[in-house]
Amino acid sequence: MTAMNLMLMGLPGAGKGTQAERIVDEYKIPHISTGDIFRAAIKNGTPMGLKAKSFIDKGELVPDEVTNGIVKERLGEKDTQKGYLLDGFPRNMVQANALDSIGAELDRKLVGVINIHVDPASLLERLTGRYICRNCGATYHKVFNPTKVAGVCDRCGGTEFFQREDDKPETVKNRLDVNIKMNTPLLDFYKQKNILHEVNGNQAIEKVFEDVKKILDTIK
Ligand SMILES: [Zn+2]
Repeated sequence: MTAMNLMLMGLPGAGKGTQAERIVDEYKIPHISTGDIFRAAIKNGTPMGLKAKSFIDKGELVPDEVTNGIVKERLGEKDTQKGYLLDGFPRNMVQANALDSIGAELDRKLVGVINIHVDPASLLERLTGRYICRNCGATYHKVFNPTKVAGVCDRCGGTEFFQREDDKPETVKNRLDVNIKMNTPLLDFYKQKNILHEVNGNQAIEKVFEDVKKILDTIK
């Protein structure tokens, strides 16, 4: 049995978080998301956590070498013996190359990368559709969860709505562009290594997970 050393990719709105939860639940492997391990390393005062904190406290970006160090500390823990699911790392080629070295050194070599693919136009629709009742704060989505009566809040009958800055088309478009630019070299890199698996994320959550499972069962 191969250790399920996995990495999950997907643009914002592609449903990566939901699939991550399902994968770690199904295959009993730890979910290693960068945000979580940073918080844990800082809270536990690990050597790399303290380094990271010194940059964060100064309001500076944490350099790749520190991020890589935190991932290395985490992958060195016992619970990753049967596998792990990386989420949010690596984000660039420096980190991807570091992960190769860490994997070789710790015997935690990456064996599969799953990319939940949704075309950017659909993501734009998913991510910009959210609007909020100005009176009671109820949240709706133009496509997936509209008010029962157009322009009237189901909960309070309010008729004024607004969009958060984060949900506005130009903000979302920019966020997507940044992520596409960031992901492209990584996808090429893992494709060349023959460990990249594309999953169609433009389907029901259950169906996406079925496709993910089909792939992972061939790795297991
Ligand atoms: Zn309302």
